[in-house]
Amino acid sequence: MDLLLIGPPGVGKGTQAARLRQALGIPHLSTGDLLRRHAAEGTRFGTAAAAHMRRGDLVPDELVTEMALQQIRDRSCAAGVVLDGFPRTLTQAEALDTALAAAGRRLAAALHLTAPDQTLLRRLTGRRTCGGCGNSYHLDIRKPRTPGQCDNCGHRLVQRGDDTAETARVRLAAHTRQTQPLLARYRRAGILHEIDGCGDVGDITRRLLAVLAPHATESATL
Ligand code: AMP
Repeated sequence: MDLLLIGPPGVGKGTQAARLRQALGIPHLSTGDLLRRHAAEGTRFGTAAAAHMRRGDLVPDELVTEMALQQIRDRSCAAGVVLDGFPRTLTQAEALDTALAAAGRRLAAALHLTAPDQTLLRRLTGRRTCGGCGNSYHLDIRKPRTPGQCDNCGHRLVQRGDDTAETARVRLAAHTRQTQPLLARYRRAGILHEIDGCGDVGDITRRLLAVLAPHATESATL
């Protein structure tokens, strides 16, 4: 089953995608994480994307599409994938539909997670990530046992370069502007579901799974 999580930065797409992966047994593909890995490794994709990411701008469509489709076509994603952060534009959405159709697949659902801007800014600017295992923390909401250090592997926690207040505002505004056409596309296709992204993490997962229940049965019986 191929799924898409849409939502502003900080709404918890990464957290929920990981929980859906566990519940449904399909991998999670975050183009943001993938781009950061490419940038850290200095690959062709990473080098070309780095300056756009630092500014909080979108990476050009051709680059991110080539990188994402390469992954979606991989054997590890043959039973489906939870897409997080891709597609972000109509051009990317069209390329995704074409690639899925060529493989006899289609998006089962586009899940739109929402929260007020103020909540999102607080979540983004307080977010800290482990430089070792990638575990995510928050200065107020999800503190590590030892300040500045990962509970899992002991590595130092760092703030993502694009999680400063100024860049976070740019990313939120860009998200609103750029996702409207995408939301309209998936609404027209009848696969858009609006999900409240506020409250307990487990409750949000339950809301998502409730929407997916008919599709999960469908793919289990295929
Ligand atoms: P994220 O972790 O999803 O917030 O993504 C971090 C950054 O990676 C974004 O601000 C963009 O610069 C870039 N990025 C991730 N996914 C895409 C995409 N589908 N299209 C364009 N840029 C992307």
